[in-house]
Amino acid sequence: MPDNYEVLRRFRNNIPDLHNGSYRRVWGKAVTKKSMRSAVNAKCQDCMCWQSAEIKQCDIVTCPLWQYRPNQGKDEKAQSEAVVGIARQICVEPATSFAETPSTDVSRTGNVLI
Ligand code: SF4
Repeated sequence: MPDNYEVLRRFRNNIPDLHNGSYRRVWGKAVTKKSMRSAVNAKCQDCMCWQSAEIKQCDIVTCPLWQYRPNQGKDEKAQSEAVVGIARQICVEPATSFAETPSTDVSRTGNVLI
């Protein structure tokens, strides 16, 4: 099993050295505990294979980082608020009965909620 130094070194070397090293800098700030914002940004960049433009298109609303992902424009604000409203109904307001709580549900992203 590789040691943590080797794991981190290899991961960093696999981050595309684009935009004057900005992807690597953001990831570095995250893993050195300098910035939680950088941690979110780096995770989204990694998730979208270091294609920043793709983050804006992300529709995985079940992801805990979705509301915090970078590159959100004004166009996404209304959608974001709508998702928050739905999430509050589900997460804050208790189900009225156990029978009304779906055991499985396939969201539009294909994730199965249990
Ligand atoms: S918000 Fe989207 S891009 Fe960011 S980590 Fe979650 S699924 Fe990936």
